[in-house]
Amino acid sequence: MPELLPVLDQETIEKLIDETARRISEDYAGRQLVLIGVLKGAFIFMADLVRRLTIPVTIDFIGTSSYGSQTVSSGHIRLTRQIGVDVAGRDVLIVEDIVDTGRTLAFLVAHLRSLGARSVNVCALLDKRARRQVEVAVPYCCYAAPDAFLVGYGLDYDERYRQLPGIYRLKFESEGTP
Ligand code: 5GP
Repeated sequence: MPELLPVLDQETIEKLIDETARRISEDYAGRQLVLIGVLKGAFIFMADLVRRLTIPVTIDFIGTSSYGSQTVSSGHIRLTRQIGVDVAGRDVLIVEDIVDTGRTLAFLVAHLRSLGARSVNVCALLDKRARRQVEVAVPYCCYAAPDAFLVGYGLDYDERYRQLPGIYRLKFESEGTP
């Protein structure tokens, strides 16, 4: 069984989201925002973020999948769920759990622009910047994460661990002692 090493506890996550929500509310003051959560990993982050925003918002979810191993994405992204709201002419904020190579986000930004969004911006709970392969701006990032496989607070490994209130690094037996 892999070992769980603590990275962020619930209280720390809440403080990070408070600050990010405050920045978004300030930057979009007087405007209406369409939040698009990326399933499934962002479902808890979306719920916590949206309740802290002080601007009017509508929400929807989009689904993507990338073929690859369980801990490494392949870069071939496809949509598994399309949005149901009309984003044409509207300000959109993609809400993502974690950015790794950047391929998923680059795909989603291009997709939402192609649907006619007036602006497309990105908010991510975690950003593994060291792993970026495709340049994509993440102006609202809660936490710069280490280059490790993380679970909890919505993030899974083989559909497990999503319900953990904190973020943990998953350490596999094959990694040995740090
Ligand atoms: P990217 O396209 O940026 O390489 O990967 C983004 C997606 O890969 C995320 O939305 C997430 O589903 C998955 N992912 C990347 N890193 C991690 C990680 O450390 N833990 C988990 N659970 N998923 C990850």
